Amino acid sequence: MTFTLAIVGRPNVGKSTLFNRLVGRKLALVDDQPGVTRDLREGEGRLADLRFTVIDSAGLEEATDDSLQGRMRRLTERAVEMADVCLFMIDARAGVLPADEVFADILRKKNANVILAANKGEGKAADASILEAYALGLGEPIRMSAEHGEGMGELLDVLRPIAEKGAERAAADAPEIDVDVGEDDEDAARIPTRAKPLQIAVVGRPNAGKSTLINKIIGEERLLTGPEAGITRDAISVQQDWDGVPMRIFDTAGMRKKAKVQEKLEKLSVSDGLRAVKFAEVVVVLLDVEIPFEQQDLRIADLAEREGRAVVVAVNKWDIEDDKQVKLRELRESFERLLPQLRGAPLVTVSAKTGKGLDRLQQAIMRAHDVWNRRISTANLNRWLTGMLEQHPPPAPGGKRIKMRYMTQVKTRPPAFVVMTSHPDMMPESYKRYLINGLRVDFDMPGTPIRLYLRDQG
Ligand code: GDP
Ligand code: GDP
Repeated sequence: MTFTLAIVGRPNVGKSTLFNRLVGRKLALVDDQPGVTRDLREGEGRLADLRFTVIDSAGLEEATDDSLQGRMRRLTERAVEMADVCLFMIDARAGVLPADEVFADILRKKNANVILAANKGEGKAADASILEAYALGLGEPIRMSAEHGEGMGELLDVLRPIAEKGAERAAADAPEIDVDVGEDDEDAARIPTRAKPLQIAVVGRPNAGKSTLINKIIGEERLLTGPEAGITRDAISVQQDWDGVPMRIFDTAGMRKKAKVQEKLEKLSVSDGLRAVKFAEVVVVLLDVEIPFEQQDLRIADLAEREGRAVVVAVNKWDIEDDKQVKLRELRESFERLLPQLRGAPLVTVSAKTGKGLDRLQQAIMRAHDVWNRRISTANLNRWLTGMLEQHPPPAPGGKRIKMRYMTQVKTRPPAFVVMTSHPDMMPESYKRYLINGLRVDFDMPGTPIRLYLRDQG
């Protein structure tokens, strides 16, 4: 156990649902374990390779008497005191309610380390509250759906540094290096700070060459013989420098190879891929040059886009292709036709077997990651918006001209923008696409999903 996470928030926002997802349904159902209080449930949480303690403060809704407020406050305070970090959950469909402010207040007073989560974030209904959530002053909200498992990659991103700090602290607390207290600070200063590894997932249909590629990158047969503990229901990851760049690579090959026995290969490999996608920053969709853009490839590429991941398409087994020029033209044409939502994403040809093209693949991954993290200043955006509006004014449905007043970037990973607009519901999708494509081209953002939200500003 590296750290303790408490899930807090008003009743019905989805705390138990997230608890169950992190702990695993079976465990969570056992609610009369000794040592577990009626109010606070505790379990061993898992997210990718992280292990931690989770506390759920969801016992609240059973209290219907007028002491609810007081109990709620005490329970939350207790959970906060037990935890290293609190996940404060709001319901993105309901927006920020006065009851949420009460919790925000407790967390601020207790000086808690807070992760703000806007749950039930699937679907458009949640867009507006994501913005509202910023106003709580607790930092950038993670949009998630505990029920559908969305946003788990973002949660992993914020939990990982906490876990790493927890591990450092545990090491610092160990008696053997605690002998000379006077030198602690100096020792700490000497610990090199490692750059956060770039998280990639390699996905694609069976036999595309995923294992071969990853083995080539990590330079040994580690995946196939990988630690048994990793071969579980979660995505398997290896951390490895790739030509000097720290990377964490998520793969499901080990699991898939195990699953072969169960004859559910096709089905499993898709859902494995889905899981790996959720943990990744950059998704490498690996195609087999002999059968590129199969249905399965398209599904997973589309999922990666919808999950907001940066995407790089790699065509493998390039060594066996004879007419490379013609094939490349064909591939580009199919790419544009079959995956218009990934317009501009890099297409790289590689041979996992010989290692040819892997340097270009690495560059494409790093570039996609950069773009995914890109932040554009509000001044530049508004100058740009003015130009776009002049060039091609928004429509005037029923004589009502849609006015767009102001634009700002609210998020990176992937880049998300908000435009203050009159009559946002009347805005045709085609005009939104015009703006998104414009952003992509004018600010040079290939290979990343771009989100554009319209916010009603009369
Ligand atoms: P708690 O009282 O905060 O522990 O909330 P629960 O976990 O019991 O969830 C309350 C209700 O919200 C349940 O009906 C859940 O099924 C539902 N719910 C939880 N997470 C989500 C989600 O991500 N999306 C949607 N649409 N509903 C959710
Ligand atoms: P996975 O199922 O996606 O993990 O695919 P594997 O890595 O197991 O590879 C499937 C088959 O394709 C194996 O027989 C590999 O030797 C072969 N293969 C993988 N990469 C290449 C490549 O770049 N060129 C050629 N010619 N064969 C490859």
